[in-house]
Amino acid sequence: MKLNRNFNNLKENYLFAEVAKRVRDYTAQFPGSDIISLGIGDVTIPLSNKAVEACKSAAVDLSTVSGFRGYGPYDGYPFLKNAVVDYYKRRGVDIHADEVFVTDGAKNGIGNFLDLFDEDNTVIIPDPVYPAYVDANVLAGHKIVYVSATRENGFLAMPPKRVKADMLYLCSPNNPTGAAYTVEQLKEWVDYALENKAVILYDAAYEAYIEGKGIARSIFEVTGARDCAVEFCSFSKMAGFTGVRCGWTVIPMGSPLNRMWLHRQAIKFNGTSYVVQRMGESMLRGGYDDTKRMVAAYKDNAKIITKKFDELGIEYTGGKNAPYIWFFCGIDSWEFFDALLKKARIVCTPGSGFGKSGDGWIRITSFNTKERTEEAVKRFDGFWKEFTAVKDKLYTSLK
Ligand code: PLP
Repeated sequence: MKLNRNFNNLKENYLFAEVAKRVRDYTAQFPGSDIISLGIGDVTIPLSNKAVEACKSAAVDLSTVSGFRGYGPYDGYPFLKNAVVDYYKRRGVDIHADEVFVTDGAKNGIGNFLDLFDEDNTVIIPDPVYPAYVDANVLAGHKIVYVSATRENGFLAMPPKRVKADMLYLCSPNNPTGAAYTVEQLKEWVDYALENKAVILYDAAYEAYIEGKGIARSIFEVTGARDCAVEFCSFSKMAGFTGVRCGWTVIPMGSPLNRMWLHRQAIKFNGTSYVVQRMGESMLRGGYDDTKRMVAAYKDNAKIITKKFDELGIEYTGGKNAPYIWFFCGIDSWEFFDALLKKARIVCTPGSGFGKSGDGWIRITSFNTKERTEEAVKRFDGFWKEFTAVKDKLYTSLK
């Protein structure tokens, strides 16, 4: 037996596993502590009734002779593919149902998509970044080139001048920074991809949070993107489906990747369940307003946090078009994580866990209730004032 030797190149600790371990150690030492999690990016608002009704009615379908279904199409049922097409159309983007592939979530889509590529590929990955891109590409044996997203470029990596890559990842609105690309900025990436015959793997898992004018909700708003891009999307953060599991991938028909992905899915995937696809459809049709309410509630929490950050003079980005706020703590990220947990019983995510450029930075999320967010902000206020007073004496300062 020969194991995948690329496994040896993975980092030992997955970021969120280390966060969970430190929280476990803390609660073992201080049992019953009232900890507020602004760490892991999981949703907290329960499912919309519309999704639950769609779930029940789909289950009833399956219990009748006429409504029973076995294996579904590898690329998803037409009712959901058409709902996705209409969802894009409402935003002025034309795609065809044959370009939509239903998945059981964006992460699976993004990771499994690498089956279509040879090992001999150079891939651009922004730094900091959602860790799954890095690990999936390490496993695939690709050569990774990092492009920094820092305060100097508004936390949005732009095409490097002297690197020729075959593939590149963009995530907008971004996890972890919350920064989002304008159509003009994305055009630079599309031009880069066309010039280098590269493919853009565009992660739009948080597109529902975009409110600003000129900010792209889909890579396909950009001229030329149909010739070089693939888009991954998800019901997870727009409809609270992190446990339900449903998403989609858009692959333009002119691309060989469209046919190859259908073939790959036919080999390794038997489809997202009928019940779940009906739930997804309900969120893009009659239940769409419920998704808007969920997103608005998380964004209200983000406002509570950024208002306090403004008051305290903290340097941050995000929170406007995303559920993430990325702020400068100025010390080693894990040191800050430990201090915030110990002194304020708040869990955050250390920026260094998302890449080298993240050191000195912290990600917090707005995925909580309003009450808990307000309580967290109250605790943070006291913590930050004390922290800044002793920072230079007690901690290792970063620029
Ligand atoms: N892409 C990004 C940037 C994410 O942050 C996440 C989840 O946190 C995902 C994809 C995964 O989404 P899904 O739940 O659809 O697999």
